[in-house]
Amino acid sequence: MFLIIVFCQLSIAHCTLPIDCFLSLSPMSSTVRVRFAPSPTGGLHLGGVRTVLYNYLFAKQHGGDFIVRIEDTDQNRYAAGAEEYIFDCLKWAGLEPDESPYHGGEFGPYRQSERKAIYRRYAEQLVNDGHAYYAFDSTEDLEKMRLDHKTEQNPAPQYDNSIRMKMRNSLTLDADEVKILLDAGTNHVIRIRIPEHETLSFTDMIRGEVSFDTAVVDDKVLLKADGMPTYHLAVVVDDYLMKISHAFRGEEWLPSAPVHILLWKYLFGLENMPQWAHFPLILGPNGKLSKRDGAKYRFPVFAMNWTDPKTGELTEGFKEKGFLPGAFINLLALLGWNDGTDQEIFTKEELIEKFSIEKVHSGGAKFDYEKAKWFNHEYIKMTDPEALLEIYKDLLPSYFNNKDDAYKTAVFSLVKDRCHDITDLAEQSSFFFNTPETWDLSAVMPKWNEEKKNFFVDWANKLMELVGWDAQILEQSFKELATEKNIKPGELQLPLRIMLVGGKFGPPVFSIADLLGTKETIARINNALPIF
Ligand code: GLU
Repeated sequence: MFLIIVFCQLSIAHCTLPIDCFLSLSPMSSTVRVRFAPSPTGGLHLGGVRTVLYNYLFAKQHGGDFIVRIEDTDQNRYAAGAEEYIFDCLKWAGLEPDESPYHGGEFGPYRQSERKAIYRRYAEQLVNDGHAYYAFDSTEDLEKMRLDHKTEQNPAPQYDNSIRMKMRNSLTLDADEVKILLDAGTNHVIRIRIPEHETLSFTDMIRGEVSFDTAVVDDKVLLKADGMPTYHLAVVVDDYLMKISHAFRGEEWLPSAPVHILLWKYLFGLENMPQWAHFPLILGPNGKLSKRDGAKYRFPVFAMNWTDPKTGELTEGFKEKGFLPGAFINLLALLGWNDGTDQEIFTKEELIEKFSIEKVHSGGAKFDYEKAKWFNHEYIKMTDPEALLEIYKDLLPSYFNNKDDAYKTAVFSLVKDRCHDITDLAEQSSFFFNTPETWDLSAVMPKWNEEKKNFFVDWANKLMELVGWDAQILEQSFKELATEKNIKPGELQLPLRIMLVGGKFGPPVFSIADLLGTKETIARINNALPIF
């Protein structure tokens, strides 16, 4: 008998909800389910990928699921191609979700624009329960309100508890009038009714207890005039319906927390609220790292190249700069976290094992591009030349195509330890594909003389008859002839490098000659000698 009464009460309390919602009112499962919820408005910023990474690591560590939900309810900010681009970035970084619009899953649809019908029911439930209201104010009404209430202390008045009773809404109009307006399809929004003085708190997994006074919170719009939810309503409803256990997001969302706490309280019960963590900002040279910093200081801030569909402006990505996915996620992991030791290089598996949300710092994490390049350098060194060739295939300058893969791989194995990114790789290897056209003579001239010139004429002739061709044989023949001519071999090696490379850089000079081969080595010496 008692059970029946309880059941009836539950049914009455939620009577505005359809049957599918009853089903999802079952207790939250204990499985870890985390989500990344991007709005497809442009390129994927470092901070966004770090949010993905921390979510991903946490999910994998706990044998849970990582969900990507597309928050595309703001049609004005929508950028064509941005959604596909986000998934391309995640694929490149090796952070593929378990559920998403592209990966499927039993909690779909995973695009908020396809869930429009769901949100209105919840917004209306809030109105019926007295926690929200219809607001019919026009743009002019709102503009007038801002002008009328603007003071020196309050330059941007908000639609809040001090204002709401002076506006056109279902709290100030009588019920019949509201019904007439709604029946006539009058433009309206639904706003949350923020309680006047309530202290709201939650325990952030990084920051500990965080409290807010609702006095400073405005009556945020929950449902817009076009019927689309705002972020505030959609994020709470979807985190609930998708059974999200932990919601991790950037610290810029912290001020929205009181609105979300109230929505959880009113709609689903605070006991069902996911555990939250707000990640620190990523700082650039002047405060929060921005796209402008990237353009100004010439470093990437997006995961992959992004071209703005409206302006055609290209913003560079880490991928196209030649960052290896492993290096990229390693450097991102350490932007705001470390395991308490000096270890800096972590494989993805190690990160999954060692990462902990509680050890993420609450203060901003400074991005240093030189350090980022250091990580990439370490990963390039650890990667086989064959694998590098595969990764860089599409990024290499066109002159690479003049040679076959075996040659390119041999070049990579010689130069990779000197490279931090694709620019280094192109610079360090271009002379293997192109005969130098300029020579750094300043490096040679002060100690240059006829004897040395003759040495090279003779050595070039000797090379034609050399039996066998490798770095060791070349070095031996070079040193023998130098000794014969009474010249220190050390004084001849730099000129040889300048003849073969054009400048004072590159791997060991006899390895270069070895790879260039007999014909090309001799041709380069003969080509340079008249200028020397
Ligand atoms: N759509 C929000 C964003 O673009 C998601 C924030 C959240 O994770 O709750 O950042």
